[in-house]
Amino acid sequence: MALIVHKYGGTSMGSPERIQSVARRVAKWARAGHQLVVVPSAMSGETNRLLALAKQVAPEATTTEAMRELDMIASTGEQVSVGLLALALHAEGVPAVSYTGWQVPIATDNAYTRARIEKIDDARVRDDLAAGKVVVITGFQGVDGDGHVTTLGRGGSDTSAVAIAAALQATECLIYTDVDGVYTTDPRIVADARRLTTISFEEMLEMASLGSKVLQIRAVEFAGKYRVPLRVLSSFTPWEIAIDEEANSGTLITFEEDVKMEQAVVSGIAFNRDEAKISLVGVTDKPGIAHMILGPVADANIDVDVIIQNVSHDGRTDFSFTVHRNDYARTMELMRSAVLPKTGAAGLLGDDRICKVSIVGIGMRSHVGVASRMFRALSEEGINIQMITTSEIKTSVVLDEKYMELAVRALHKTFDLDQGPAAQ
Ligand code: ADP
Ligand code: ASP
Ligand code: MG
Repeated sequence: MALIVHKYGGTSMGSPERIQSVARRVAKWARAGHQLVVVPSAMSGETNRLLALAKQVAPEATTTEAMRELDMIASTGEQVSVGLLALALHAEGVPAVSYTGWQVPIATDNAYTRARIEKIDDARVRDDLAAGKVVVITGFQGVDGDGHVTTLGRGGSDTSAVAIAAALQATECLIYTDVDGVYTTDPRIVADARRLTTISFEEMLEMASLGSKVLQIRAVEFAGKYRVPLRVLSSFTPWEIAIDEEANSGTLITFEEDVKMEQAVVSGIAFNRDEAKISLVGVTDKPGIAHMILGPVADANIDVDVIIQNVSHDGRTDFSFTVHRNDYARTMELMRSAVLPKTGAAGLLGDDRICKVSIVGIGMRSHVGVASRMFRALSEEGINIQMITTSEIKTSVVLDEKYMELAVRALHKTFDLDQGPAAQ
């Protein structure tokens, strides 16, 4: 008997029929003698619907008070899901009980809309498991030190599931979704993307941080920190398939580099359309300039991603950086009001029609010339690179958004990702 955490995403929970299918799958695992904790997301589209309602009432909900209410609203989608799933389990004859984040409780900090899990009290859950119940816990939400409901950022149910698995020292955390594993790139963009049977933790971390939304980055971080065995698999296989077959399907996130993976120089391609670029042109080049520009951005709690400062000419330089597109207007305003006057910059340019495309692979450590192959492939497609950043196992380029799909496809081909070493 093992303690297993299942997580089901929005599409997997998308209709009463889908929820019944999830219940049958969970019942199959429970009947096989396992203890089950299930973490569902809101039904597909529900979180968007709730946040759109909030936007209609308050288009600019940026104050802390307003963000608190956004979490109050957005968290309800998951509350409906857990209740429905528990009912569907009862209908299968499986004892089950549902909890919201604050009932467990799942303690978080108070950063509304992107809170971080700090501690999970496992007492209640363990009691229910010992009493033979399946425990169904809301994804995406928790409670701060003052009892306010918080949410964990979009896609946060992945993180709830992995954190719960870590707290309970579960044997495995299975992330059921609408694709049958982690692919070399998003199969919605490249039809011949291939499923990976395994991916190293480090590569998964990069893929997630660079935009592959199949797993939320904090979920991968948790898995790494607490060594939670993590697998991504499909909730769309027939629910009655054999448990052994199901348990070995999908993609396993591994913590040791195996020989097979070392053969691939590039394992995957990630992309992200959520960023915007801001440039200050003709900034006086003197010590402290980067801090003068980015200090106010950090103070406003805005995350900066790519940063480039050019070589200076005649004591002046250009300084560019990217932020999340949602923070674009706020950052531009900050530049105009607080930064431009101090830096003596000649101009301010902004572009919220950019994308970032990245190649990821631990094989890049031991191979030279990988980045230049990437640049050549893009130039052959006539795609101009606006910014470049590299680390040991990834190279990212910032491009005009309109070239995103072309770039991803070209790179997928250049690095032979359509030909494996992926799933058999
Ligand atoms: P869920 O609702 O189950 O959490 P998500 O929509 O958050 O599902 O994540 C699954 C989606 O992630 C897939 O449908 C796919 O389009 C997308 N995706 C992006 N990159 C990848 C990748 N490398 N491998 C698999 N899926 C990916
Ligand atoms: N329902 C939340 C969202 O749509 C959390 C999740 O699906 O993981 O972002
Ligand atoms: Mg998701």
